[in-house]
Amino acid sequence: MRLTCPYCHSNATLAPNPAYERRAAVPLYVLDCTGCSQTTVRHENQEHLVAALVGKRHGNGSHELTVSADAIGHTSFHTDPTGRTTPSIGYSELLEYVTCRISAADTFSLMLHTVEMGTRYLSPEGGVPYQAVRGWVVTNGEIHALSGQEVWEASCRGSESGLPLDPEAGIHYVDADDIPRPYPW
Ligand SMILES: [Zn+2]
Repeated sequence: MRLTCPYCHSNATLAPNPAYERRAAVPLYVLDCTGCSQTTVRHENQEHLVAALVGKRHGNGSHELTVSADAIGHTSFHTDPTGRTTPSIGYSELLEYVTCRISAADTFSLMLHTVEMGTRYLSPEGGVPYQAVRGWVVTNGEIHALSGQEVWEASCRGSESGLPLDPEAGIHYVDADDIPRPYPW
């Protein structure tokens, strides 16, 4: 696949790493960049990031992460209650951007919109999906967890993000988990 190099923003291509078939410790993908000599995208870092954001909420959930920087991007993934601690995700250019830019001291925000179904949320009327929104702000290489109140205020200001953030719509604005240093990416 073609992508923008997460290191230097030149045109690059990403291909499955043939060595991965033989040895799981090597990167799953290799990068071929026209502008720099980086060859690795840290796909496993993306999974670490997603696991940190989702935290212990490994219910049967679907999640959409919105990254707001100069431009706004979305990516979606899913967790299920199989006991895996790391959600399985495909390669995401957006998540690669996030894991690279946290250490580069860029400023952006992360909003995680989670919809959970399942027996935890059964009501007398049947299964009612539980919807929650959590947020973090990344600045100076640090991830700061926002409180539910801060996320609600940011959401009301930032309704152009396209998320269905009407407080009347049954969405819970909840405190985000702290993501302590050292970050695993
Ligand atoms: Zn590059």
